Amino acid sequence: MTRVTRVLLQTKGKGMTVRRKINGITIPVCECKHNFDASSGCIAQVPVELLEEVVNNEGKYAPGNFDKYKAQGVLDKGRCFYCYAFTNTGNVLPRQVNEGTRRDFENYDLKVIRVGKLNEVGHPYYYKTLMDFLGLCEEFGAGLIFTTKMFPFGIEGALETTRYARNNNDIVARIAKDVGMCSGEKLAEKLKAISNVSYGVTLLYSLGWNCFEPGAVSQGFTNSWRINQALKFYKQEVNTSLTMVCDVTGSINLNEKMGSSIKQVLDAREKYGINIRLLPIRPRSREMAVKITGDTRKGLLDHTNFFSSVIPNTDVGVVNVGQRYKKRRNQELIPRFFHPDFQKLVDEGIGVCGTIGKNEYCDKCNLDDIRIVFPVKEIPEVFYEKEKKWGKKDQRKLKF
Ligand code: SF4
Repeated sequence: MTRVTRVLLQTKGKGMTVRRKINGITIPVCECKHNFDASSGCIAQVPVELLEEVVNNEGKYAPGNFDKYKAQGVLDKGRCFYCYAFTNTGNVLPRQVNEGTRRDFENYDLKVIRVGKLNEVGHPYYYKTLMDFLGLCEEFGAGLIFTTKMFPFGIEGALETTRYARNNNDIVARIAKDVGMCSGEKLAEKLKAISNVSYGVTLLYSLGWNCFEPGAVSQGFTNSWRINQALKFYKQEVNTSLTMVCDVTGSINLNEKMGSSIKQVLDAREKYGINIRLLPIRPRSREMAVKITGDTRKGLLDHTNFFSSVIPNTDVGVVNVGQRYKKRRNQELIPRFFHPDFQKLVDEGIGVCGTIGKNEYCDKCNLDDIRIVFPVKEIPEVFYEKEKKWGKKDQRKLKF
């Protein structure tokens, strides 16, 4: 029998690192200080054909199958290609909200909780955990930064996945019916009720590339499906945004050509007025660089060769500015500039989260109308203490 664990609030995250030191005083910038995940593994990694097996085996693959599928490469193929959460524990069993979780709410001074730091929480499989959690948020007046690819507009949205899923597989719809998911309107009411008693609620649908999110897309949570759900919550006056993960150094045409859903996102903004945000992609490998930016890591870092070695740039409009990315910790590449297409959006007031060139950007995840830009060099060094087995504290520096 799989052991059920309780939901606990994690305190490490971006809020620790994205702060600003001015005149010797450190002020917080990022609001992601407390985090909530509903499971240890991410359900978005499960291909639709295996979802029923996982649900029927208490959140795990049938005995022996996890290692078998892993060896076959089936599991790596489900994972979102660019996700920074690498672990696949093979266990997506929902955690439980219990008295321990309540104690966390009592003990922490909670302004906002980020939902879904390492895993997807919006999936119907986590409905009960999520609703219990939202109940505590309302009771304790804790706001939400809810990032998701899989949060349906209630049972209606969950049923819609069948139409988008591979071979019209209806497993997500059946899970939603089994857990007794309520209507979209009721979910919207719940989010607005939390917003009324807290700093705010922001519902952020992540948009990217169907081709690089195979597990989620196979289950029916395609980029089009996500935009549909976001628009329905937006219509119900929930503070909803479409967060566009993209290569900001390339043109919109180049992003589109690489399989991004960016034009659909821009269309939704133009047609319905929904807020959009930019989250710059940080290519970690050669393969990711080539597939997403149209150039190799070497090419992206080259000061002189600004022409793509993979895609002819004449028809996609990469600008002639030399090096597109620079190296940061963990071999990540950071964009050096906004392509004029994206600069135009930023000039129009579109929010950005992340580092571009020498500046750090934060739009408070659209909790507020605030747009913050400041030099990366103002971010203070971060130290964290790791308790060693023998009791000594080991102070390490987090590189930024
Ligand atoms: S936009 Fe700001 S608050 Fe939101 S994740 Fe980024 S740094 Fe944190």
